Amino acid sequence: MSELYMPTIKEDPADADVTSAKLLYRAGMLRKEASGLYSFLPLGMRVLNKLESIIREEMDSHGAQEILMPFVQSSDLWRESGRWGAYGEEMLRMADRHGNEFCLGPTHEEVVTDLVKNELRSYKDLPRNLYQIQLKFRDERRPRFGLLRSREFIMKDAYSFDADREGLDASYERMREAYENVCDRMGLEYRVVVADAGQIGGDGGTEEFMVLADNGEAELVYCDCGYAADVEAAACTPAPVPYMRAKEGMPAGDVREKVATPGVHTIDELAAFLGIPAAACMKAFSGKDGEGTVWVLFVPGDYEVNEDKASNLLGGFAPLTDDEMKDAGLVKGSMGPVGLPAGVKVAADASLKGIERWVVGANEDGFHFVGAAQGDDFKVDAWGDLCTVREGDACPQCGSPLRSARGIEVGQIFKLGDKYSRAMGATFMDADGSEKPFIMGCYGIGVSRAMAAAVEQRNDEHGIIWPAAIAPAHVAVIPLSPKPDEVTAAAEELAGALADAGLEVVIDDRDERAGVKFNDNDLIGWPVQVVVGKRGLKEGVVEVKDRATGEKESVALDQVLSAVERVLS
Ligand code: ATP
Ligand code: MG
Repeated sequence: MSELYMPTIKEDPADADVTSAKLLYRAGMLRKEASGLYSFLPLGMRVLNKLESIIREEMDSHGAQEILMPFVQSSDLWRESGRWGAYGEEMLRMADRHGNEFCLGPTHEEVVTDLVKNELRSYKDLPRNLYQIQLKFRDERRPRFGLLRSREFIMKDAYSFDADREGLDASYERMREAYENVCDRMGLEYRVVVADAGQIGGDGGTEEFMVLADNGEAELVYCDCGYAADVEAAACTPAPVPYMRAKEGMPAGDVREKVATPGVHTIDELAAFLGIPAAACMKAFSGKDGEGTVWVLFVPGDYEVNEDKASNLLGGFAPLTDDEMKDAGLVKGSMGPVGLPAGVKVAADASLKGIERWVVGANEDGFHFVGAAQGDDFKVDAWGDLCTVREGDACPQCGSPLRSARGIEVGQIFKLGDKYSRAMGATFMDADGSEKPFIMGCYGIGVSRAMAAAVEQRNDEHGIIWPAAIAPAHVAVIPLSPKPDEVTAAAEELAGALADAGLEVVIDDRDERAGVKFNDNDLIGWPVQVVVGKRGLKEGVVEVKDRATGEKESVALDQVLSAVERVLS
């Protein structure tokens, strides 16, 4: 350790907004160069390399073959797929000296499709699965949380090419198994969840691999029956309450009443004002679809509109700003389906189909309709699953109450289908002699994000607690003596014996006080520490410390290897 470039630091960096960024910086593993751009120092690099080795082994043993594609990509390919325009501001674009346009690769579907386009000619050449471990660049709107959402990051991305759907299903299953193995071997707690296809697109299934962590950006729901889903994607089936039964003394079921509701703007206020449950009111939310058409969405009052689901239903979705609402003639806090301005369309959660009479805004400040009749007073243009699932909702698979947790998405696997191969004319000759587009899958792991996710899941007030499989080294031997003496000699001998047994060992031979050494070694987070002191040596013992539990054990010199191996396993 006296020779290592591992500048450990006592204080948290001022701009670190998440535990992993603080600890990786303080442990001398990572340095920030600019917003979303990082350098990996030697100890961090060892963690990265271990993650990459695990990933390589699992990819290779599951039929994928490693390649390396360029980081800089020509705009021509992105024009072919139609994404040069569609990808948006996350793509960093540039021109070369001849004026040709390029981007820094945010992902590699286009390049890999082009790569196989004229080479995989026949169904006999399929399936193939190609992967790389590469830099990606995404000009994230808000780079934050250190390596969790950086701009430049390391990804393992794999792409499979099959002749048909069944082939894709098999390729996907193999990758799914490889991903489970990777997560198991990293030694982290994780869940595989049903996800939303987002930017990458495709019409097949997609799942995410979530490392569980309390401050993870993603929220997921799960059930003992095995169901687990990202809240953005989890099926949601609310049970709205028909208003006629909501409260005695309300208008009869066939009356539409315009009720003055002064000062009422939220669902809670409306429910309290009318004395009915929120589930008997309809919550309204406005936005525009991909073509700019304005929609007002309705969901049961006790649920929230899910923008990803709205986007899937309507073909793009962006909430209206207050100004846009005004321009469209909408009244914030009192939107309803009756008497909307011309051209504004109505979408509603499928659970409201069975509710004939609605409690909704009257498109007039201070007024609501109680009992507006679906079909007579208004029509719904689009129905769909529009709500965000809540903890306690019924599991769509078995009906038990769902539980929720937070996580960090470290990987995602997609069935793409022919989205890219069709757009880019990447075809093969099938057995019947016809030309068909490849049926593709794509599979990504955020390698640098996984490193930070491990720290988010495994840390305490003293520092990082690396799982043995990805720790920068397995064990630190810590002599409590500043100068060469019998203590340092014993430490060196012990370290040598542990290394001979195949372990990765560091010796803390720095000229530092015991306190400084203990703090640094806890901070860096090797799984095991072996502390060699003068007093113990006299009795022929050293102290073996399990970093995860903090437990210390006095161990005879000839028993150290087995004690260390016990902790590691
Ligand atoms: P997110 O939803 O978190 O932005 P994504 O779904 O856009 O991620 P994918 O396109 O699925 O990401 O990329 C595959 C993997 O790359 C992700 O599972 C994640 O681990 C990693 N990744 C994506 N964006 C970043 C980023 N900005 N910083 C670090 N890792 C990232
Ligand atoms: Mg993803």
